Amino acid sequence: MPPSHDAIVIGGGLVGAAIAWGLTGQGLRPVLLDEGDVAYRASRGNFGLVWVQSKGFGAPHYQRWTRASAAEWPALAADLAARTGRDVGLRQPGGVQLCLSEAEFEERAARMAQMRAEAGNFGFDHRMIPMGPELREMLPGLGPRVVGASFTPYDGHANPLVLLHALHRAFTEAGGTYVPNARVEDDIHAAPHDFAVTAGGQRFAAPRVVLAAGLGNADLAPRFGLHAPVRPQRGQVIVTERAAEVLPMPVTTIRQTTEGSIMLGDSVEEVGFDTRQRPEVIKVIAERAVACFPWIGRLNIVRAWSALRVMAPDGLPIYDQSESCPGAFTANCHSGVTLAGAHARLLAPMIAAGALDADRLGLLSAHRFAHGEAA
Ligand SMILES: Cc1cc2nc3c(=O)[nH]c(=O)nc-3n(C[C@H](O)[C@H](O)[C@H](O)COP(=O)(O)OP(=O)(O)OC[C@H]3O[C@@H](n4cnc5c(N)ncnc54)[C@H](O)[C@@H]3O)c2cc1C
Repeated sequence: MPPSHDAIVIGGGLVGAAIAWGLTGQGLRPVLLDEGDVAYRASRGNFGLVWVQSKGFGAPHYQRWTRASAAEWPALAADLAARTGRDVGLRQPGGVQLCLSEAEFEERAARMAQMRAEAGNFGFDHRMIPMGPELREMLPGLGPRVVGASFTPYDGHANPLVLLHALHRAFTEAGGTYVPNARVEDDIHAAPHDFAVTAGGQRFAAPRVVLAAGLGNADLAPRFGLHAPVRPQRGQVIVTERAAEVLPMPVTTIRQTTEGSIMLGDSVEEVGFDTRQRPEVIKVIAERAVACFPWIGRLNIVRAWSALRVMAPDGLPIYDQSESCPGAFTANCHSGVTLAGAHARLLAPMIAAGALDADRLGLLSAHRFAHGEAA
């Protein structure tokens, strides 16, 4: 079958949409195939942080990739605003992790110092700030249990649902084709630079294919000579009514939306494909938030949900091009908001050019699991 498109991108979540949109900037006209509303979609249930400070402990290449993405974010947000009129709500004032005991503070200080050491000449700007006037001024309303915080200037947050919508809109307005209710299953042809799939009752062919199907990548990848050993990891989030108080910067598990509500998150639960909520977990999230900011305890909770992260055995992203079927790529990560800048503006040009940059992404290949997975 002759190519119907320049590229097939499988998965219309944040990862697929960012890459698909980025490919249009390289002059390509991809088709974006997306499963129906039954799908697990981390992109619709996440916390919205553009978060750098905790990323890449023991893996400085991941810290560098995350930093590169945070640096690309202002251009991504500006580009999306110019093309769609949507403000994705990006704020990058830096971010804070609060410590509720001396032990937590010391452990955090050691971790941040090690990350700085691992960063080498690349640098890692951070400060440990003990409880006192400076921290109180940075974050008014802190509670008496807070003993200090780590701060890095790279962190921020955005509205992830507006981001997803803006990426889709920019993609289609740039000439890309979005096909909903289009699950790619069995009828797959994969040969070097020659791919065809059936989805939603139609056949699509292209010289490139990008597997960005989140948890669906685990099953799809072997069909293209790739390996994507991702598993679900549940996270729960709660949202309060709009608050009169103002949180000037995000905290790892607490952030204020541009509309004023407070988002509290997010748990880490190994429960397989189970999106039920557990009151015990919600209680822990709420208790920690109130210990950090007692005024949060006066707010009503208006929504709560759970969603499944797309998690690799070591928690790092996975990017590869197939060796047996060049032209087939895979992208997997559990920080699709944070990495949207890199996916749209750094990864997509690599895919369009036909080669992943080994300096940036070589260590994020699934080859690192070749000698046994921890999953
Ligand atoms: C509770 C929680 C909080 C989070 N907080 C943050 C945060 O603060 N910051 C951050 O950066 N990240 C955060 N994340 C992670 C972020 O949401 C994910 O990294 C990101 O959404 C993953 O996007 P994705 O496109 O890979 O996957 P998904 O959103 O799961 O999308 C996958 C898409 O692929 C489609 N699909 C699947 N299989 C097929 C198939 N066979 N054929 C066609 N289509 C298919 C599905 O329909 C779906 O649309 C959080 C995640 C959770 C769960």
